[in-house]
Amino acid sequence: MNYRVLLYYHYTTIEDPTQFASEHLEACKAMNLKGRILVATEGINGTVSGTIEDTNAYMDLMRNNPLFEGIVFKIDEAEGHAFKKMKVRPRPELVNLSLEDDINPHEITGRYLSPAEFMEEMQREDTVVLDVRNTYEYDVGHFRGAIRPEVETFRDTPKWVRENKDLFEGKRVLTYCTGGIRCEKFSGWLKREGIGEDVGQLHGGIATYSKDPVAKGQHWDGKMYVFDERITVPINQVEHVVVGKDHYDGTPCERYIKCSNPDCNKHILASEENEAKHLGGCSIECTKHPRNRYVEKHNLPEDQVRATIAELEKVWQGATN
Ligand SMILES: [Zn+2]
Repeated sequence: MNYRVLLYYHYTTIEDPTQFASEHLEACKAMNLKGRILVATEGINGTVSGTIEDTNAYMDLMRNNPLFEGIVFKIDEAEGHAFKKMKVRPRPELVNLSLEDDINPHEITGRYLSPAEFMEEMQREDTVVLDVRNTYEYDVGHFRGAIRPEVETFRDTPKWVRENKDLFEGKRVLTYCTGGIRCEKFSGWLKREGIGEDVGQLHGGIATYSKDPVAKGQHWDGKMYVFDERITVPINQVEHVVVGKDHYDGTPCERYIKCSNPDCNKHILASEENEAKHLGGCSIECTKHPRNRYVEKHNLPEDQVRATIAELEKVWQGATN
């Protein structure tokens, strides 16, 4: 393993995100890094891959910049790059919560819990654990017993929590996410809303929890979804329980694919066999899409595609009749 994947964020003030982003992109390219970095007035959030030498140079560059004093990097070993390109993008905000009044984590945020503290507190009777990621992230892996908000994306979570306030009544609430950045704001929002008796957040996120010498990723079931080419990574060092279910037949599955309809792109879990059977579509409509990516990628002949769709439609009609 000569490569690494770095994951980090830092809330700070970047005066001119557009200017910073273009200079930072040049610096990253000069270091042969690949990845995705978001820059906003409120800070930076990124994940990059590169050789051990190059990622060390990058961490030095960041740590030596007074803007990023105290920045923490989560480091994964890897066999190669986890991205195809290097992108640095200016954005209005680092995480999109679509709040009427934005949250500044420097002013209000939940109690920081170390992995060992989180592991101990999550097992208490008076405590509920809230997953603040997207449902497709939850579905392949999560903390045992954690609440799964029924939302398409993270920015809908506040609305969902308001509608389900009773789940948190009189409870201590613990939040967690991949690297911790979403919790910084979300736990602050929970506090401002007066949700639960007390609000704590997993400091450093699941990425830190999985490597902690005490927690060792325990009480985590399944794998963790990541936003790079690895798609999922293991978390629990002690035991591995599969919780993911195949989109098509509900059997245990941890293999993510994107729906083959280029206008849909929904993340679904599917075995190679079921993916082939459905030409990668999440629904019959998606399978029938004229630019079906699975068909293009595998160069499937037209008559074979037509026969597959006819077969699927029979099954589909049978299911609804
Ligand atoms: Zn689809």
